[in-house]
Amino acid sequence: MVELIDKEFSKEYNNLVESESVLPMKITEFYKKKVLEEVSQIGTGGPLYKSVIPTKEKMIISTSKETRDYVEEDKHMPIEGVDYIIRKYKDRLIFIITDVCFSHCQYCFRTYNLSKLQKSNLKETISNKIKVLKKYLYEHNEIKEVIFSGGDPMSIGYKNMIYALDELKNWNIRIHTRAIVYNPNIFDENMIRLLKKNNVRLVFHINHPYEICNVVENKIKQLYNSSIRLYAQFPLLRGINDNYKVLKMLLIKMDELHIRPLSIFIPDPIAYSATYRVSYKRIIEIMNEINWSTPSWINSTRFVLDTTIGKVRYENIKSWEGNCIIFEREGKRVKYYDLDDGIDIPSDINKLLWKEKI
Ligand code: SF4
Repeated sequence: MVELIDKEFSKEYNNLVESESVLPMKITEFYKKKVLEEVSQIGTGGPLYKSVIPTKEKMIISTSKETRDYVEEDKHMPIEGVDYIIRKYKDRLIFIITDVCFSHCQYCFRTYNLSKLQKSNLKETISNKIKVLKKYLYEHNEIKEVIFSGGDPMSIGYKNMIYALDELKNWNIRIHTRAIVYNPNIFDENMIRLLKKNNVRLVFHINHPYEICNVVENKIKQLYNSSIRLYAQFPLLRGINDNYKVLKMLLIKMDELHIRPLSIFIPDPIAYSATYRVSYKRIIEIMNEINWSTPSWINSTRFVLDTTIGKVRYENIKSWEGNCIIFEREGKRVKYYDLDDGIDIPSDINKLLWKEKI
């Protein structure tokens, strides 16, 4: 069996989990098999490996302006003392229904808050959370949609999902999930029927075309054939998909499977993320390469940065001096600090797409 991480480094990383609130390594058997296959072909550090296995670079590489929570979710919690309801927009809100994920993505932008929630002894039950949520929803009837987020909402299991969807049947429900690549069998026949019955929108988080193996593909087809609306949004990540050829392959695959890609997210400038981030200059290059080389059903996918003033795009840039970019939206401005020079080294395409002949 190939070792995914050496024992000494594993100890070092576990110390960081305790002292710095980063997420511990967690990986499903299903995904681990793919990582092992990748390692046996190209060694460690490939795209699927980097998604779930901590690396020394993650610990060492940092850039000058990083925060713990760039989008300041705690400033968008409308109820005092309630950390599982986040509201940034008038007509919808995020409901952190669970803090559990099937696997931990090493680049997770919610790392800090998720880690705090996972370590907290004050765990609310799903029924308590829903009680609080419903009260708030009834007091704010301009909210039409509840976005289940987490953690991975699919990890709550079938019985909790029946309960949650039934309790919230008066609102549109969207589920953001990475379960399709970590644990696709969670979408069994009962779950698919339940999601269909409640007219749920599923938004997948899939980063790389090699995450869509035959099992995942068949599961997506089953969901589509059950008339469930399928969407995707995912981050642009160095070492995982930071080349337009990877994105193009992924977006074409999604189109074939009737998944509508909504957004490609620019990773937040948070601590321990520099090894995953791409410089804004190169983000523009990747956007242009996609634009020039693909039809509109591919290049209409938006590259967005989530900020405290909402999502912003390239068109929202107001000024750019050194590595400080200022975005403006609806009269409000927000600063974004780009990577320091020399950090963003483009990934080798032969490693990112090691199964192809490039
Ligand atoms: S599944 Fe989502 S919430 Fe969980 S670690 Fe990955 S990105 Fe973060």
